[in-house]
Amino acid sequence: MADIQLYGASWCPDCRRAKRFLGDQRVPFDWHDIDGDPEGIALVEARNDGKRIIPTIIFPDDTHLAEPSNEELADKLGLARSAMMHVYDLVIVGGGPTGLTTSIYAARENLETLVIDSKGLGGQAGVTERLDNYPGFPEGIGGAELADRFVKQAQRYGVEMLQAVSVTRISDDGHRELDIETATGDHYHARAVLIATGSSYRRTEAEGEDDLIGAGVHFCATCDGPFYKGSSELLVIGGGNSGLEEGLFLTQFTQKVVVVERGDRLRGSKLLQDKVLNHPRMEVLLRHGVSAFRAKDDGSGKLGTVELENRETGEKVERHPAAVFVFIGLDPNTGFLEGQIDLDERKFVATDMTFMTNVGGVFGAGDVRGGSTKQLASAVGEGAAAAIQIRAYLDRLEREGPGMDRGR
Ligand SMILES: Cc1cc2nc3c(=O)[nH]c(=O)nc-3n(C[C@H](O)[C@H](O)[C@H](O)COP(=O)(O)OP(=O)(O)OC[C@H]3O[C@@H](n4cnc5c(N)ncnc54)[C@H](O)[C@@H]3O)c2cc1C
Repeated sequence: MADIQLYGASWCPDCRRAKRFLGDQRVPFDWHDIDGDPEGIALVEARNDGKRIIPTIIFPDDTHLAEPSNEELADKLGLARSAMMHVYDLVIVGGGPTGLTTSIYAARENLETLVIDSKGLGGQAGVTERLDNYPGFPEGIGGAELADRFVKQAQRYGVEMLQAVSVTRISDDGHRELDIETATGDHYHARAVLIATGSSYRRTEAEGEDDLIGAGVHFCATCDGPFYKGSSELLVIGGGNSGLEEGLFLTQFTQKVVVVERGDRLRGSKLLQDKVLNHPRMEVLLRHGVSAFRAKDDGSGKLGTVELENRETGEKVERHPAAVFVFIGLDPNTGFLEGQIDLDERKFVATDMTFMTNVGGVFGAGDVRGGSTKQLASAVGEGAAAAIQIRAYLDRLEREGPGMDRGR
């Protein structure tokens, strides 16, 4: 039993938000769905003076929070949300593999470094069940464990790290330092900033998806396809180029790949469509969307059933694939940069060969950078390479003095 107990219901958006927040911080908790559970309902009512307020979250000290905001949760968990200083050599926005790698390199060179992450340190790698293709771990490694190792290494070099704090603006006012503003209202100043905010796979938002990510619901075929070697069926959601390409790739692991597309035709290139439609072990299901993902009832917590809905007739069908791969798009986490930093046509950060953006002193690396390969090993590689370029930039700033033009 985990230390934190979360009482809620699957239909409650605030419960999903609280679950996601705890998951992002990688805080273990037990989930209790009180729908149809008289004991759970009684407990929630007893805690809230007879009111049925969810989520109700009970902590190890036996206190509880009813319907807390993410900020209240962060305070309760004792997360550092304000930094110790206001001026740093380098501020890194995003504490995923890219940002943490840069921070280790920078701090080893005695640069005062602050990492700010809107969720939990470790980024997408930290919330990935298992990583099997990261060099150095022949048996694979759990994402949370790898993230903890990155964090410990950064701590060893004195990197300061904030969690559950979003950066909302990076401004260049023409002063010696750039200004970094956070959602908590703090302003930090630094001579260099690295944007390492990654990108987010679009989710179907169907019922049960959050709970089954990594346990049968996946977003990366290269990363997780090999887990399903020898399976009889895999489902791919999305009939665009990624869905078709990745679906073809997955045929090497399974007997049958079913591509599910909500529209009335596939959207990928003609060449890919031909390959998929003529493949003897691929099937295409048009005009269908996912309405629910359900776990097996053997207590394993793994995906058992996918419920699909015909978008024209509303008819529901159930399938029981070994896993589902969702390819309905990837959004870079760059909304807060629009109008301040040049983005490419897909809204990824545009950089030159030295990882510098159009704003002098502001760098971009990892999954958020246009042209990056969205793999952990490349994120770490970009983090290291960006650190070296940032060091060179700061050296130049030092040599040329405060009068140096920070522009490119
Ligand atoms: C489910 C899944 C499985 C994967 N499996 C594998 C695998 O097996 N092998 C592999 O090589 N790769 C895998 N990947 C890809 C790999 O995790 C990424 O390539 C890698 O994490 C990218 O690192 P990053 O630091 O660039 O970005 P991220 O890991 O995305 O980190 C970015 C960080 O920035 C933070 N952030 C975003 N916006 C802000 C803001 N405004 N202010 C402050 N912080 C912000 C986010 O909270 C996040 O922590 C997987 C990805 C997913 C989603």
